[in-house]
Amino acid sequence: MSETFTRTAPPVPEPAEPEAYRLLAAWWRANARDLPWRFGRTTPWGILVSEVMSQQTQMSRVVPYWTEWMAVWPDAAALARASSAEVITAWGRLGYPRRALRLQECARRVTQEYDDRLPDDYQSLVDLPGVGDYTASAVLSFAFGRRVAVIDTNIRRVLSRVFLGVESHGGTATPAERKMAQEVLPVGEEESVIWNQAVMEVGALVCLPKAPRCEQCPLRGSCLFLKDGLPGLGQGRTRPRQGFKGTDRQVRGLILAALRGHPAGWVLDRGKVEGLWADQARLGACLASLDDDGLIEILPGGSIRLPI
Ligand code: SF4
Repeated sequence: MSETFTRTAPPVPEPAEPEAYRLLAAWWRANARDLPWRFGRTTPWGILVSEVMSQQTQMSRVVPYWTEWMAVWPDAAALARASSAEVITAWGRLGYPRRALRLQECARRVTQEYDDRLPDDYQSLVDLPGVGDYTASAVLSFAFGRRVAVIDTNIRRVLSRVFLGVESHGGTATPAERKMAQEVLPVGEEESVIWNQAVMEVGALVCLPKAPRCEQCPLRGSCLFLKDGLPGLGQGRTRPRQGFKGTDRQVRGLILAALRGHPAGWVLDRGKVEGLWADQARLGACLASLDDDGLIEILPGGSIRLPI
């Protein structure tokens, strides 16, 4: 009797995205904010600009600045040609204005070394001025569709709560957090991009630091932190949020605000400079730090202007 063999096809691996991914992707499709740099509507350079502007500034506040900025300087080459004064002025009230000058330095490097095309490998990206691990990973994922675990504060908080059941701590991500972020990243490139964006969005809109909206959360079914009753809720922060009123940041902001919106080379004379803040010692220190940062020029006699 001849043996018959039934050849069975080798098992085709399921795209084994976990249930968490399926729920998260559905939530993303229904709830993602329609930000102008999302959904393939801008270039990799536009995504880099959005990421630099969003560091330490809420995305919703960034939208009008980004829109105007990209209309004036749509690519690295255009930004590279602008004057520092124009760039500082356009940065407006986004805060931490050194980012503006770093972004312009980055634009000059991209123009000169990469022929106005943002590089698409991690090492080249982190070598650019103002681009750290987070920004490089975000650009690789969101602009180039690579499978990279993006780790920012929001993503750390969500992943740590869901998969470890604890609050993440401040400071930089630990090796364990990085390993976990890599392990839970979906296998497919396209899915990994949605995952990164969706986890970040859940962190921004739902899984808030002090008052998570667990009833609205797509991950509530698998969240260990919720299962355990939100132990130590809000205790992850190691640094209290710094206030703004009366700080050097406020004084620096006042000085720059007084210089913006004037023709190139416009000078604020010493008397008006001294009227900007009552505490002259503090004012002087802030003027010196802005000068050191390349954000203003102090002229002989004590008047100031934006750098030309
Ligand atoms: S269930 Fe609650 S704690 Fe868990 S990820 Fe969602 S919002 Fe955060």
